[in-house]
Order: sequence, then structure tokens, then C-alpha cells
Amino acid sequence: MRADPPEKSDTTPTSAIDGAQSRIMSTIRSICVYCGSSPGTNPEFAEIARAFGQILAENGITLVYGGGARGLMGALARAVHDNGGSVVGIIPDFLKSRERMFAGAHEIVVTRDMHERKRLMFERADAFVALPGGVGTLEELVEQLTWSQLGRHSKPILIANINGFWDPLLELLDHMKRSGFISSELAIDYKVVDRVQDILPAIEAAAAVAEAAPASAVIERM
Ligand code: AMP
Repeated sequence: MRADPPEKSDTTPTSAIDGAQSRIMSTIRSICVYCGSSPGTNPEFAEIARAFGQILAENGITLVYGGGARGLMGALARAVHDNGGSVVGIIPDFLKSRERMFAGAHEIVVTRDMHERKRLMFERADAFVALPGGVGTLEELVEQLTWSQLGRHSKPILIANINGFWDPLLELLDHMKRSGFISSELAIDYKVVDRVQDILPAIEAAAAVAEAAPASAVIERM
């Protein structure tokens, strides 16, 4: 089962800024969110996941995620669903039989393995967001950073640094830059915000910059 994406707005812009905003909004139709399959110890993380789910639903943006019903993943997907939004869960066969899947997804895609799952999550999303999570979240985030660094895509990547959760990773990335392992030619392009309400505006701004780049710089397949 698959939900149709919301219709694009065709309202005539009243100013240059209005025009830019409606164009930017229309470029982001789906966001892949990486986050913990556990809730974490801080209840605020689940609140943030729910708040972001509501924001996605209210903006007509489809959630693409790992398909699980537990932890922050479950809180996020339930919030999208409960607020009338669209959820696409992409889960490998071995996890499907082992884990509780979110029953409210509009579309569940079962993949042969993790590689196919990650490729589909990439292809189905216009941008990537990392909420707090564990090694699975970290791995998925770092993979997108790597693909971006290698010029395989220019989709926005946003780190939601809620309560400074990602500070150790940001410090490590800075350390790598200072140590000459992340060069300016292969700059890793990511955005960082620390409030949930800033996630979408930052993605839209990054998408506008990417859209202005030459089409040849955007390679959307690995
Ligand atoms: P972690 O941060 O280690 O909890 O892993 C979360 C990330 O790994 C999610 O973004 C998922 O894509 C994937 N993942 C881990 N556990 C599950 C699960 N039980 N069901 C679905 N996806 C999972």
C-alpha cells in the first residue's frame, strides 16, 4: 500500500521570498530519519522524536525510516501516523521476522539484506536527519556523510544535536579536520541544529543551495 504524496502548491508567489520558499518546500517531499531503536535514558529524546513526527506530518513530508515500532523509531513513526502523515518503513527480511514492525506504516518495503535497505532508504529520501541513537544510527549517518564526501549525492544531511547528544561526534569530526583527514576539497557537508523546530528550515535552506548547484554535481545513485 502506498500513500500519494501531497499535491504541489501552485499558488502564485507574492514576493521573491515567497517564491523561494514555495519552491524550496516543494523540493523536500520525504525525509529519511535515523534514530535509536531504543528510547534512551532521557525522556526528552522521545518527546523530540514525537515533535519531529508531528512537524513532518503537518508539512506533508513523508517519513522514510527503518520500520521498527520500538524506541525513538516507534515514537517518531507513531507521531507521523497519528497526525495524519505518511510513513514508509524499509526493513530487511531478517529484522522483520525478529522485531516488532510498526503496523501503521502506509508502505512497508521488505528488503533482502541491509545493503538493499540502505540503498532504498537513500533513494526514497530527499534529505537525511539523525536524531539521538546508537551504533545503527551512527553507522547510517556516517554512511551518508561518506557518500556525500565522495560526491555521490548532494541531499541535505542534518544532525539534530538535541541536548548536545552528538557533541562527541562533532568533536571527532573537528579533530579529523584539524588532523588533515577531512580535507577542504572533500569537505563533508552537514548541518547541525539543536532545536527540533529548526530541523526543517535548515534542511530547506540546504536544499535550496543544492538546487542552485549545477545538475552535473548531483548524482543520485551509488
Ligand atoms: P540503533 O541506533 O543502534 O538503535 O539503530 C537504529 C538504526 O538502525 C535505525 O535507524 C534503523 O535503520 C536500524 N535499526 C536498528 N534496530 C532496528 C530494528 N529493531 N528495527 C528496524 N531497524 C532497526
